[in-house]
This record gives sequence, structure tokens and C-alpha cells, in this order.
Amino acid sequence: MGGGPAALGAALACGKAAQIFERNAFCGKKLLLSGSGQCNFANALTKAEFLSALGEFRTWLKPAFYAFDNAAFMQLLEENSCPVFARDDGKVFPQSMKSADVRDTLVNLVQKRGTKINYSSKVQDISPQGTGFLLKVGNATIQAEKLILASGGAAWPETGSDGFSYRIAQKLGHQVLAPVPALASIRIRDYPPFDTCAGISLPQSTLIIGKDRFSGDLLFTHQGLSGPLILDNSRRMQPGQTIRLVFDGQDRLFDLLQSYPKKQIVSILQMLALPKSLCEAILLKLQIPKDALAAHFKAAHRKNLRAFLTGAEFIIRDIESLASAMSDFGGIQLNEVVAKSMQSRFTPGLYFAGESLAYSLPTGGFSIQMAVSTGYLAALSALNDI
Ligand SMILES: Cc1cc2nc3c(=O)[nH]c(=O)nc-3n(C[C@H](O)[C@H](O)[C@H](O)COP(=O)(O)OP(=O)(O)OC[C@H]3O[C@@H](n4cnc5c(N)ncnc54)[C@H](O)[C@@H]3O)c2cc1C
Repeated sequence: MGGGPAALGAALACGKAAQIFERNAFCGKKLLLSGSGQCNFANALTKAEFLSALGEFRTWLKPAFYAFDNAAFMQLLEENSCPVFARDDGKVFPQSMKSADVRDTLVNLVQKRGTKINYSSKVQDISPQGTGFLLKVGNATIQAEKLILASGGAAWPETGSDGFSYRIAQKLGHQVLAPVPALASIRIRDYPPFDTCAGISLPQSTLIIGKDRFSGDLLFTHQGLSGPLILDNSRRMQPGQTIRLVFDGQDRLFDLLQSYPKKQIVSILQMLALPKSLCEAILLKLQIPKDALAAHFKAAHRKNLRAFLTGAEFIIRDIESLASAMSDFGGIQLNEVVAKSMQSRFTPGLYFAGESLAYSLPTGGFSIQMAVSTGYLAALSALNDI
């Protein structure tokens, strides 16, 4: 049940043996939003690199990835009149840059293979019955021999994914990790003067959370921070927590001050490949006159500036809520699901797929790919009684 990428991935493998129940009047409402409507559905990394990008979830997700990998997904779309292309950063999109083309191609293919899609069919409840399941859909009761729960997570509930899968999994004996926002932007306490930097993107920046360092592209917003570096790590953050950003990774400030004594400090900061408005905001924050010459730079200013550039502290005011986070981290605990089949360890015939599972992946097309891959593997297993 569900009509997102995970359910469509399952139906690709099941054909006429499956039926989809989707509460919306169409499939893939979240898929349509993805990549700002352009749908970054996969990543063109090599298999080994792709798995490595899945981080702590790579081992668990490996069987699903091998069941239907990134090359298979790209080829499937290409062969069905949806040409795709990979950007230099590896992100894969449809050539039309329209998410509807990916969704329509998957839906058409699934229907061609014989899966019946029941639209506007909200599943209200699911109960075990004998060796199968009983689904309550509107006034009807539907019997199913096997069930693939692919009704998404709890993020962006407006799309239809409102945590239903978690409630059903709990009812069927599973532990559910309480969902927290993932792939979410953060707002920063006492943010000005950095609000003037909204729109600035710093490639390959370093973020420090506790003792852990992460790197990626950073984006300044009107009220805080975003970009892959923040989105990918937001599940590790909490309101009130202090995070640190590194603007001068090689600690070059003192050398530059010595080498260019007649330059203004704002120009010296720009030599660290920082945009001028960010340099000005840093100096304003530290109450350092931007036109101060390097040769006349006070010792206290020098010390404060160096400390800021090598580990600027920002306190998190709040994290984007589940209502608008791109994904959640939480859901059905992975140790209660067999990774090789996606089958429940407790309830035979019950399979899970997609964002209902407690994994969280970085931006870059990994979430949609793995939703389709887990759905595909769940369906193969259900068909073959694994
Ligand atoms: C704004 C935004 C941008 C994103 N961009 C990207 C991106 O560029 N690349 C990427 O890889 N990922 C992206 N994601 C994440 C990606 O879209 C999801 O990880 C993916 O859609 C999850 O697929 P799923 O099938 O598990 O769940 P969903 O896509 O959430 O699908 C679940 C379906 O189940 C249906 N359903 C729920 N409850 C019921 C019920 N009771 N009865 C019947 N049907 C039900 C829902 O209506 C929904 O259609 C983005 C997410 C958002 C919100």
C-alpha cells in the first residue's frame, strides 16, 4: 500500500500479483515535489561509491541496492521514453527536468505490467487475518495474502505520508523509532548580521558537531543555515545546541596578516575565498572595523578573528519541523526487518519499503533510489516466499 516511489518500485517487480492503494487521487505527490519539481531520483556514483554514501545504513541497504541499483533505475527510465542525465556532481535528473515525467513513466510501466492502482483509496486500518491481512479501505474490506507497507514516513504530511505506516507497524508488533526531522534547515539564535549573507553558498565547508567533522556545501539563509552540509546532518542536531563552522581550514590568517601589512582586513579575509558580504558580516559580528590595516591590527582582534575563522560558534534556535522537512529519521527499526528480504522478523507475509523504515540518507537522489530499491526487493521476496 502507498503510491510513492517505494510502492511503484514494488509494483514493477510484482506486476499483476499486486494492487496499490493510494489515498490521493494520483500517485507520487512527494515525488512530484522532489528536487524542486525537477526530481533528482538517483545518483550516478559507482556501485561502491553509492553504497559508501549511504553511511551507517550501507550494509543494511546493500541487498536492496543490488536488487535494483542506480544503473537499473536509469536504464528503466531511458528505455521507457524518459531520457535522463547526470550532472557533474553525480545527481541524476530526467532530461526534461520535470518530476512528473519520472512519476508518469513509472505509473505507466506499472500499469502495463498489470498492477491495479486504486486511487483515492485511503487505508484506514490493517489487521492480521489467518496467514494474511485484512485492509479496511472506505466501506470495503480487502483481503491480502501479503502486505508491503510502503506508505512513507511522517515528513511533509500534506503529501499524504502522515506516519500511518508507523501506527500499523506498531499494531503488528514492531518498535517504531520516534521520527525527527531530517534533511531540514536550521534557524540560528542571534543570527544577524549573517542575515545579510542569505543566498551565499560556500562549497566544501566544514561543520563540527561535538567531536565529529562533516564536509559539504553550506548555504546561508535569511534566518539560518541550509545546503547539503546542514540538511544531511540535521538529524544529529537539537535546538539549543552549539555547532561550529570552519571558514579558515588551513589556519592561514596570521600568515596573511604578516604577508600583506598594508591591506585592509576585509580584503585579507577575501583571500580565504570568502565572499565580501560574508567577510563584512564576520567583522561586524566581532566588532572589528573592516578598514583596519593588517599592520595595525590589535592583538585581541587578531585572536578573536582567528578563533572565529577556525571554529565559529552558532547556537541552533530551532530545526525545521516535520511539516516541511524533506524527510524524517525514525520509523520501523531496521533490526526488526530482514535486510535480504525486507520481511518483518515478527509477522510473516509483512514487508516494509521506503521511508517508513528507520534509515536516513543524504541529499543527492539517494532517498528516491532506495525507496524504489527496497520496494523492488520486498516485492521479489514476497513473490518468492522469502
Ligand atoms: C520537498 C521534498 C523534496 C525532496 N527531494 C528529493 C530529491 O530531490 N531526491 C530524493 O532522492 N529524495 C527527495 N525527497 C525525499 C523523497 O521524495 C522521499 O524519500 C520518497 O518520496 C519516499 O518514498 P516512499 O514511497 O517511501 O514514500 P512517499 O513518497 O511518502 O509515498 C507514500 C505514499 O503512501 C500514501 N499513503 C500514506 N498513507 C496512506 C494510507 N493510509 N492509505 C493509502 N495511501 C497512503 C501517500 O499518499 C504517499 O503517496 C524530497 C522530499 C521532499 C518533501
